Amino acid sequence: MVEVSRREAAGLVLAADVVATEPVPPFANTAVDGYALIAADTASGSTELRVIGEVAAGAVSSVAVTPGTAIRIMTGAPIPEGCDAVVMVEDTERIGDTAVRVNRVVDLGAAIRDAGSDVAVGATVFTAGTRVTPMVEGVLASINANAVKVYSRVNVGVISTGDELIEDGSPLQPGQIRESNRPMLLRIIEEAGARAVDLGIVRDDEAKLEQALRDAVHAAGREVLVTSGGVSMGDYDVVKAVLGRIANMNWFQIAMKPAKPFAFGTLTNSRGVNVPIFGLPGNPVSSLMSFELIARPAIRTMMGMSDAFRPRVRAIVDEDVKRNPDGKIHFDRVHATWGADGRVHVVRTGAQGSHQLASTSAANAIMAVPDGNGVKAGDEVVVTFLGA
Ligand code: AMP
Ligand code: MG
Repeated sequence: MVEVSRREAAGLVLAADVVATEPVPPFANTAVDGYALIAADTASGSTELRVIGEVAAGAVSSVAVTPGTAIRIMTGAPIPEGCDAVVMVEDTERIGDTAVRVNRVVDLGAAIRDAGSDVAVGATVFTAGTRVTPMVEGVLASINANAVKVYSRVNVGVISTGDELIEDGSPLQPGQIRESNRPMLLRIIEEAGARAVDLGIVRDDEAKLEQALRDAVHAAGREVLVTSGGVSMGDYDVVKAVLGRIANMNWFQIAMKPAKPFAFGTLTNSRGVNVPIFGLPGNPVSSLMSFELIARPAIRTMMGMSDAFRPRVRAIVDEDVKRNPDGKIHFDRVHATWGADGRVHVVRTGAQGSHQLASTSAANAIMAVPDGNGVKAGDEVVVTFLGA
């Protein structure tokens, strides 16, 4: 838990209740532009009142309303002494400089926003566990809560592995590809509300990788490590080899497609702290999906977020989706829209191969296709939304 400024708290989770020490609004004021008056004066439904002053937002009336008089008043201005209602200007007719006709019966208290009617002094405005959304930030500003206690932003290091990866923009040599996972993961981690730390590309060399991993978990404040690549069955899957030796790992074959291979465990740093490691597969779509479905909720839970998971809804799939039974749930990337029938509808964004990040990039949701022979157009499916 740390105390930070309100601005730094954006996106984090409050670690303590916030109690208001100021009322909002701080004084009774008018909700409309109009005339402050005494409600009883308007009982006949058509009343002429003498206008004895004017008050705008930010000012205070120096005169009080007395029977038979009114004060011209603008939205947000403090309610003058003596009056007990405000009539909106649309229900009046001005008569010269000094009078106004009120064309309706005005109820006692009409258009008056009482002091504390949004937030009362002493009220618990937010409880611990609330995430600081833009609206929460606005409320904190309104009660002058300029420093708040929050759960720390989790510091997540990201390492890509692979002899084939380059990122310097130079022409591709035979066998090389351009790195795409790390730029993507760094952004998603930030978007998830954590702090991403770029730890670069490490080559498929056990000694170099071991050093990079030890340095990564040793760094002050490093709370999570994410690696990309090298966790499947290949001979050069050095992440698997090294972490298997130096860390306390679980190697999973998850019954999902894409992203079957997945590793999770802890590596103990030199201070004896166990740093969690998520070992994501290297195929870009698999890397994305395992981060989205497994690592992201875990990291958000570490930051105290009660909304750790992406929103999930039942939707209608608008096309036949064929698949074969293989014991796995298939997570297809889809574009979701809101149909005229009030339901969410989805169609696949295109090619679903685990290397085909381009078609995945058009997706705003993931559709779960259960094990079996697929789903038919019109079927109901469970969809998880993606994106900020
Ligand atoms: P790996 O999990 O290391 O066996 O990699 C699986 C596939 O993903 C291979 O085709 C790799 O070239 C590719 N790949 C691994 N890491 C990345 C990366 N950071 N960016 C793009 N492709 C990658
Ligand atoms: Mg590799």
